[in-house]
Amino acid sequence: MQFHLNGVQPGDPAITPGADVAQVLGSADTLPREVDVLIVGCGPAGLTLAAQLSTFPGIHTCIVDQKPGPLQVGQADGIACRSMEMFEAFGFSEKVLKEAYWVNETCFWRPDPADDARIIRSSRIQDVEDGLSEMPHTILNQARVHDFFLETMRDGPNRLKPAYSRRLTDLIPDPNDATGYPVSVTFERNDAGHEGQSETVRAKYVVGCDGAHSLVRKSIGHSLRGDSANKVWGVMDILAVTDFPDIRLKCAIQSAREGSILVIPREGGYLVRMYVELDSLGETERVADRGIKPEQLVAAAQRILHPFVLDVKEIAWWSAYEIGQRVSDSFDDIPDGISNTRTPHIFIAGDACHTHSPKAGQGMNVSMADTFNLGWKLASVVQGRAVPQLLHTYSKERRAKAVELIDFDRDMTKLFAGRPKDGAANGDDRADPTKFQQYFAKHGRYTAGVETRYDPSLIVGAATHQELAVGLVIGMRFHSTSVIRWADAKPVQLGHTIKADGRWRLFAFAPAEDPTAASSGLTVLCDFLGHAPDSPIQRYTPAGADIDAVIDVRAILQQDHRHLDLSAMPAFLLPTKGRYGLIDYEKIFCPDHKSGHDIFTSRGIDREQGCLVVVRPDQFIAHVLPLNATAELNAFFAGFMRPAD
Ligand code: FAD
Repeated sequence: MQFHLNGVQPGDPAITPGADVAQVLGSADTLPREVDVLIVGCGPAGLTLAAQLSTFPGIHTCIVDQKPGPLQVGQADGIACRSMEMFEAFGFSEKVLKEAYWVNETCFWRPDPADDARIIRSSRIQDVEDGLSEMPHTILNQARVHDFFLETMRDGPNRLKPAYSRRLTDLIPDPNDATGYPVSVTFERNDAGHEGQSETVRAKYVVGCDGAHSLVRKSIGHSLRGDSANKVWGVMDILAVTDFPDIRLKCAIQSAREGSILVIPREGGYLVRMYVELDSLGETERVADRGIKPEQLVAAAQRILHPFVLDVKEIAWWSAYEIGQRVSDSFDDIPDGISNTRTPHIFIAGDACHTHSPKAGQGMNVSMADTFNLGWKLASVVQGRAVPQLLHTYSKERRAKAVELIDFDRDMTKLFAGRPKDGAANGDDRADPTKFQQYFAKHGRYTAGVETRYDPSLIVGAATHQELAVGLVIGMRFHSTSVIRWADAKPVQLGHTIKADGRWRLFAFAPAEDPTAASSGLTVLCDFLGHAPDSPIQRYTPAGADIDAVIDVRAILQQDHRHLDLSAMPAFLLPTKGRYGLIDYEKIFCPDHKSGHDIFTSRGIDREQGCLVVVRPDQFIAHVLPLNATAELNAFFAGFMRPAD
């Protein structure tokens, strides 16, 4: 973490100094009349977006929810490795690492072949394969994740706070608007003393993060399509005394006749979540019609766990729900066929555009990933740094991923719901416990959230030079590994240099030659980036801003960090910044030979040629290019960036 650039600031460095009170929105007693971005809904999708936008002092953001205050308990709890990587970008992964349960191993239980009224453990496996991510798979109450995002917003330059107790009632887009604020949004207050009062906000952009029953989605004429639900599952967070030996491990338990349970140990060492299979619903039946009681969940869990005893002392939270896998036709307000003439102003994200069962543990993760994808794009367009056409990529990229998720979730749901014997009889081999386990393991990469791969587009290049870095795949997230920060010899994760600050990154992997020679690939690249008027750094960095304000360049050398001479390094990699012109010493990295992490080996970087890896602000790899491919680099950025004034 870097701080004190513009003068020593005592106190917590995570709190951005110098908030301009006039910019503080959403904390006042009334909503602002005009905003750049209006977010409806304080779930994981809305808060991720608000936290991202709160880092930009010039962007007026307002986030509103109908609830009276932050979530306290319940809902999702699974945090995929990929989401942990994203939390690192927001600066709070350590808090989650400290507080959360870590899912290191998973157990599978099945009917005892000798007596199928009993269950026995069939296997115990590692949950996340080695090397998949530097982050573990964790479990933490969704409410705590919300808290961390709220802290990020509060400590950012805008001191952004949600406006609670406001229910969205109306949303009217005006495609012919001349004011620059084309969406008119009306809320009704429901807090004491203001009940029924109406407030209207005009916004440049509106993002509906308002959950599965989204009014924003309905207002732009979209609906969720897919399977309707007919299977009822119950979930309960309990404190219990049991002789079931794997109660502190994630367990998928299939009984012969009583259904299935997924056991998820929770943070704190005592709390446990159980997802319990209940009956199927009739054709026209809804889960509410069943009048399900928590005692039924407890009784079902006790039957499935037989011969083990489950003595429930406290039910902290419970819910019963139907499983439905559905996705919206589009995630923005642009009808098919007119994307050449109009750009979106209204978006939907999270459960507002896709719903799925909780078994795959994806709901919160995918919702956050949606708005991490959207946030930097909106910020770039609002700041005038990128063309509005960039916004088309949100629906395109995220809808494709939502469809994949729905397919995956449908399979997972079938797996959990299939009874071992029936499944085998029906020829559905996934219901066989052994197959179930194999399928579960195979899809570990998917549930970890690291399989997402975006197709070539305005912001994802073609794989023409992918062979230069085979382990850093274009369209996928930047897979971090340990390196040594050259100036202070600290082992750090290279991926953790990518913060949620809206900046692009260029990682220049140097060839094996002497990087300080005037003719070396790295020196020539630095000369180009630092001096050529047509280089992306020169074109897109506003006058007077730090050299890395828009595109942050980092170099990774092959030499041992002790054998490099500071005075011989390209000056571009030791830039002077801030009001005092202090030198930034944190741009150069070397392989972590001491702990055996040579990034050139682990990520398959061509040692002879090196390469340039272009990374988007959401940590996804946009391009892999030869170090000297300056024309291709320029053309890539020119496709969507606007030159600085
Ligand atoms: P949400 O978290 O649903 O947030 C939407 C927000 O929008 C809410 O705060 C809501 O108050 C607000 N809102 C809605 N309409 C309006 C309006 N008109 N005006 C203003 N504000 C509005 N996932 C699991 O993995 N496991 C679980 O056990 C589990 N249980 C769940 C139980 C419940 C009751 C719910 C609702 C969800 C559950 N989920 C679970 C799903 C998981 O919580 C979601 O996938 C995730 O929260 C989606 O995030 P989101 O931000 O898209 O929407």
